[in-house]
Amino acid sequence: MKIGVLGAGVVGLTSAWWLSEAGHDVVLIDHAAGPAAEASRANGAQLSYRYVAPMASPKMLGQLPGLLLPGEDAIKVSFNRELIGWGLRFLKACTSAEVARTTAAQLALAELSRVELERLLGKVPLDFGLRTAGKLVVFRKQSDLDAATPADRDAAEVLTPLQCLALEPALALRPDEFAGGVYTASEQVGDCGVFCDQLFARLGQSNRVELRMNTAIGRPVVKNRRVTGIDTDNGTVEADLFVLALGSGARAFAKSCGFDLPIYPVKGHSITIANHGEPALQHSVTDYSRKIVYAPLGGATRVAGFADFQGYDTTPVASRIAQLKQAAADTFGLEATGEADPWAGLRPMTPDSRPIIGPSPLDGLFLNTGQGMLGWTLACGSARLTTDLIDGKPPSCPSEPFDVRRFR
Ligand SMILES: Cc1cc2nc3c(=O)[nH]c(=O)nc-3n(C[C@H](O)[C@H](O)[C@H](O)COP(=O)(O)OP(=O)(O)OC[C@H]3O[C@@H](n4cnc5c(N)ncnc54)[C@H](O)[C@@H]3O)c2cc1C
Repeated sequence: MKIGVLGAGVVGLTSAWWLSEAGHDVVLIDHAAGPAAEASRANGAQLSYRYVAPMASPKMLGQLPGLLLPGEDAIKVSFNRELIGWGLRFLKACTSAEVARTTAAQLALAELSRVELERLLGKVPLDFGLRTAGKLVVFRKQSDLDAATPADRDAAEVLTPLQCLALEPALALRPDEFAGGVYTASEQVGDCGVFCDQLFARLGQSNRVELRMNTAIGRPVVKNRRVTGIDTDNGTVEADLFVLALGSGARAFAKSCGFDLPIYPVKGHSITIANHGEPALQHSVTDYSRKIVYAPLGGATRVAGFADFQGYDTTPVASRIAQLKQAAADTFGLEATGEADPWAGLRPMTPDSRPIIGPSPLDGLFLNTGQGMLGWTLACGSARLTTDLIDGKPPSCPSEPFDVRRFR
């Protein structure tokens, strides 16, 4: 088949790779000049295969009134019509049953991702700083530590503050400043932007893949309820099937196809602080209360965080960057000299934190999007599952939890 992949973020690039490996001819289309121009460029770098806690939960429901007050640091919300519709679905997902369903589905997809990334690297050695660094989630409040879900604790150890400090000596907190941590030794880190650059270069060498960059995607060409082509500013691209992997741009495209995709852009920020000599951190660390992650990446530490529900603007906000610098100084004594590469990106979030993978309401259009907080972690598994379903093969992990029809 000839398959058009819409979007060259980590989800589109991995889709293009797995589809071409399965024998399809692929056209990869993106409006940017290069790969990973949006959310996949400078994210938190964590490959978080065991820590997949969904955002919607009964606990979050209880915290919601406080979170919506001005002054709350980790999450900022500005309401608009799109967000209200999305928010109602989010509230519906805040049940223990949904959390259990999402956690089970995400753990299976994450494990598939881990295996598929290994398989990819067995075929094409890519160098993006992949390391099994282990992940320590630090909880400042005892109630948060107590409520850490069983999935977090499976394959993980609960540590006292002193044990956390012994494990990660760079942590500059006093033992009485936090309740403890959950450590998962098997978690990995890697630079998603560099992975995308290298996979893109490999795709460019394949005679099954055509790269169409600097190409803005417009409306679909629909004949008899089937998408047969996509209008772009460089003419119409025709294919037997299209895979929608536009990240936070997916909702607008779906709208132009006549259906709704409940994906909302959740803005996050990052900085990258160069090491002076020795690596600053040994492990990847998540500060649960502040919603900030720290990842050791070769010669630098990536510091990323926040969840701002404030629309589609991707400009880094100076106050958020200043908060990240301050947090890095308080928590690890890390001094960001100079600009430290301020960056912001939009996580394509679904209300229940599960990606949308499967057929769309229109023939000829397949959905692989909405990976949200975990798009780097889930990309390779999502690409495998997409390829299985398109080829009519038994899915490599349960696919039904990711079907868009759950939102009807
Ligand atoms: C601050 C932050 C920290 C994060 N940390 C982590 C982490 O530690 N671990 C993890 O697993 N995940 C993390 N994520 C999430 C992860 O980065 C995203 O889920 C993932 O990058 C989404 O990939 P994507 O390919 O779906 O979207 P994108 O990377 O946004 O790709 C979409 C592509 O579509 C293109 N596009 C959009 N509209 C159009 C159009 N009309 N025409 C043509 N092209 C178009 C864009 O140019 C872009 O290349 C983080 C995200 C953020 C913001």
